[in-house]
Order: sequence, then C-alpha cells, then structure tokens
Amino acid sequence: MSDPDVLSLFCRCLHHAADRLQPGDPAEPPIVASSVYFLPGEPTAVHQYGRWTNPTWSALEEALSVLEDAETIVFPSGMAAITAIFYTQLKTGDRVLLPSDGYYTTRALAEKHLAPFGVSVVTRVTTDYDATDFSDLRLVWVESPSNPGLDLCDIRNVAMKAKQAGALVVADNTTLTPLGQRPLDLGADVVVCSDTKVLNGHSDVLSAHVASRNVGVIARIRDWRTHTGAIPGPFEAWLVHRGLESLEVRFDRMCRNAETIARRLMEHPKVQDVRFPGLASGAAQAIAAKQMLRFGTMIGVMFASKEQAERFIDECKFIRPTTSFGGVHSSAERRARWGDNVPDGYVRLSVGCEPAEVLWSDMKRVLDSL
Ligand SMILES: *Cc1c(COP(=O)(O)O)cnc(C)c1O
Repeated sequence: MSDPDVLSLFCRCLHHAADRLQPGDPAEPPIVASSVYFLPGEPTAVHQYGRWTNPTWSALEEALSVLEDAETIVFPSGMAAITAIFYTQLKTGDRVLLPSDGYYTTRALAEKHLAPFGVSVVTRVTTDYDATDFSDLRLVWVESPSNPGLDLCDIRNVAMKAKQAGALVVADNTTLTPLGQRPLDLGADVVVCSDTKVLNGHSDVLSAHVASRNVGVIARIRDWRTHTGAIPGPFEAWLVHRGLESLEVRFDRMCRNAETIARRLMEHPKVQDVRFPGLASGAAQAIAAKQMLRFGTMIGVMFASKEQAERFIDECKFIRPTTSFGGVHSSAERRARWGDNVPDGYVRLSVGCEPAEVLWSDMKRVLDSL
C-alpha cells in the first residue's frame, strides 16, 4: 500500500462515524460508563453486559478497523493484547519463535507463563529471521524494527516462508503504527500495536489493539477478552479515540523531526554511532525502503560511556527522562539500565513534536559540552 492510500484510509478513519450519525447525535463518541444495559425479556439488544461490549470501545474499534483495513479488537494494554494472542493460538507441544532482541516483556511472558504449560520458546535475533528455518513452529513473532535495537527483517519474506511452513505470523507494529508500516499487507496474519505509545501519543493511558483478516483468529481473541475480562475502561478508550484523531499530524512531525535529528547526531563528533532505519545501510536499507512507509520516531544513539549518555539525557531541557516512547514530548533512556543487551552508552531517544530547530539546538548545546 502506498503512502497516499494510507492517508486516504486515515481520512476515512477520521470521518468513520458520519454514516451512522443521526441529527442531534453527539458527533464525538460519548464516554458510556454503565456496567449494565436496559435488557427486559429475551436478550436481543446489541449491548447486554459491560464485560461483553461497550459503545465507547466500539467507536474506537470501528475507527481502528478502518485504519487497519481489518477487524480490530481493543485491549487495556499491549501486554493484555499479546497475552490474548499467545493463549488463543498456542497449546501444549507447540513451538513459538520470538525475537531475542525484541520487547523484553513479550519474551518474559512466554518464558515464565507459557513454558510451564509445555510450549517451547525459541529465540533468534531479528536480523537472522530472513535465514531462519520455520518448520515445526506454530507461531512466528516478528518485531521490525526491533525494540530497542531498531534492527529490521524482511516482513514479506519472513511471512511467506513461515506461512508455507504452517506457522501463524504475528507482527508487533507498536513503533510504527498502521501509518508507518502495514504488516497485514505484507503477509502477516495478525498485527498487534501497543497504543500506549505513538498511537495515543499523549503518555496518559495504556491501551492496545489487535487486528486480523482471519475471522477465526479474531473470533477467538474476542472470546478471550470476554471470558478473561481483560477489557479497556470506557474513559481510556475515549482518550485513545481522541489521540487517534491527531495521529497523522503528530506522527508526520515526529518522523520528520527524527530524520533531521538522526542525521545531525550522526555528524556530531561526540556521538559514536546512530541507529535509525532511515539511515540504515546495506541489506537493512533495502528492507527499510521496501516495507516502511515512514522510518519512525526512535533513534538509537551511542555515546562513549554511561556517564556521557546520562549527562545527555539529564542536561537536555527538552528531553524527559522517562521509559516508554512515542509521546508528544521527546524522551530518552539508557536501555542497559533494564538489562537489555545493548552497550552502557546506548540511549534510546524518542523524538517528540517539539519544533525541530529548538530541539536540536538544545541537544547540540549539551553535546558540545560533553
Ligand atoms: C510497550 C510495548 C509493548 C507492551 O505494551 P504495554 O501497553 O506497555 O503493555 C509491546 N510491544 C512493544 C514493541 C512495546 O514497545
């Protein structure tokens, strides 16, 4: 799918409610805070009980379904969504492949909570995925770019080979959102996105969605949510719907900012190395050009030492020292502080919506002083 097609999907997503609004209806979705619905006699109403459905989630799901071009289910966090996928698609004796350099908690969930049920967890670094033999795997988990290292694999190639081998292919698309990369169009069966990050973008709610064009898979995931009660609150769903409406303008600004800042960081003598898909070389450059509509909002910055990295984070006035990423405020952290397999001086920088030149002069002032 080309960039203009995705932008027209986004416009349809923005205006998705127009088809069903009646004169006098609220134009934006109301926050419906009711656990029960008026339900006399035979239970035939659309909404019956608050764990099953809620009109505020439905509004968000409708909008996201337009943007994903696939049926979508919302969850109260990325990990709740990932849990739903694991537990509905895997059973005793199955093997699952996870990226060893991907989001840590996905691996921790599998290793601590699935392995005791007899699911084997196999790991590979993202850059080895293209050359992996996928036979005997039930589920192949793809995270490209990987978080925090920002390495890539060829999603179309991996999805084709893994599906030929009989596996279900799931892509975690958190870092890029459906505006930056479209795993379902590249052949993945399921896409999951932690909307806590860029999609909501205001660092004020945890949320996530799962989308798939496979009706069987999506029905089981919906069932899981109903039965486990891992449901979003109506206020949280409303916040994400509100965040989604400005996603395109925020993401565009943040990706442009990241491109400008990545290039300048690379030229600065105090920076040893920069990892950014838009500045990749060799095989990664070809993969990025083929499958990414945007290069994203995150930059890996390598400093000579832990001390220099910490000074950069602390002394930049327009960088918030927080974990997570994708908010309108630029933020950064040293990932080694969590035990990620990256050098001590590696900073994951999440570029926000600040005016680029102001942001850069703040960073340059600190870099020059290191
Ligand atoms: C943050 C994140 C998650 C988990 O999302 P939560 O909303 O924090 O539960 C999963 N995958 C990736 C790539 C993430 O960055």
